[in-house]
Amino acid sequence: MSGGAEEVALVSPRGFCAGVERAILIVERVLKKHGAPVYVKHEIVHNKTVIEDFKKRGVVFIEDPRDVPPGLPVVYSAHGVSRAVRRAAAERGLTVYDATCPLVSRIHAGVSRLRRAGYEIVMIGHRGHPEVEGTLGQADGGIYLVENAEDIAALSVENPRKLAYVTQTTLSVDDTKRLVALLKERFPGIRLPEKDDICYATQNRQDAVKAAAGDCDVFFVVGSAMSSNSNRLKEVAGSLGARAYLVDCADDIDPRWLEGAKRIGLTAGASAPERIVKSISLRLREWTGAEVVETPPAASENVSFSAPKDLLSVL
Ligand code: SF4
Repeated sequence: MSGGAEEVALVSPRGFCAGVERAILIVERVLKKHGAPVYVKHEIVHNKTVIEDFKKRGVVFIEDPRDVPPGLPVVYSAHGVSRAVRRAAAERGLTVYDATCPLVSRIHAGVSRLRRAGYEIVMIGHRGHPEVEGTLGQADGGIYLVENAEDIAALSVENPRKLAYVTQTTLSVDDTKRLVALLKERFPGIRLPEKDDICYATQNRQDAVKAAAGDCDVFFVVGSAMSSNSNRLKEVAGSLGARAYLVDCADDIDPRWLEGAKRIGLTAGASAPERIVKSISLRLREWTGAEVVETPPAASENVSFSAPKDLLSVL
């Protein structure tokens, strides 16, 4: 079809992070323990393939815990939930399994601690993203969302001497550095997080794309439109001059996108299954005749999170 490409470069680290693996494992085990239907608050992870597979097996995705019939189990997605959602589930007497990524839970705990200590908090993140809603919802006020430089310029706080910031875990590393510099300029005493809130998986996947995309004519990121970290990978690849596309599966690819491409990059966001990467690489090889090459990883990853205690014995 669109022959002529020499190489499909598989970029790594890519694909599932430890938080996504744990969230999927939790839904699998709740299905085994309770049987279908299992209710999940929000898409367990932002990936169309994962969601469709679970729906076929009797998982029902809801936004409001009041939509769960009393007595049935509900799983919170990897993005985390607000305290109001936890209250609503408790009032309904639901059996809750919490698949919030431990790295998001750490930020939630930090927000609660800071508020108890009298700090106001600035959160850098994308309005409407469920992780941001969950983190903002750890405090009853005193926490302000900023998305860009304009928001920082317009921000008004009660006491600039007792101010801290947190971020969404899946932001652009470079954009966030710029926004943090602006925050420090406006509020020189602002308290920094003890540890970066942008998670290891986001950092590593962006570093890997930065190392590879400059040499690629076309760059594919496997991920769904709702996936924040996948969208950031596409932006990074595009900023380095590659024609970058976010695709859910091989069928999303228009062969015309490959015209004139010699080197094609391929990676996957933290919620995208490796089998999709495999099927896309095979499709690209079939269409172009290019060799599929695994490139050296930009970082090694050995993070894993265990399942909650009440699911440890469900195998
Ligand atoms: Fe956790 Fe990061 Fe994965 Fe989100 S992307 S689930 S914060 S490890």
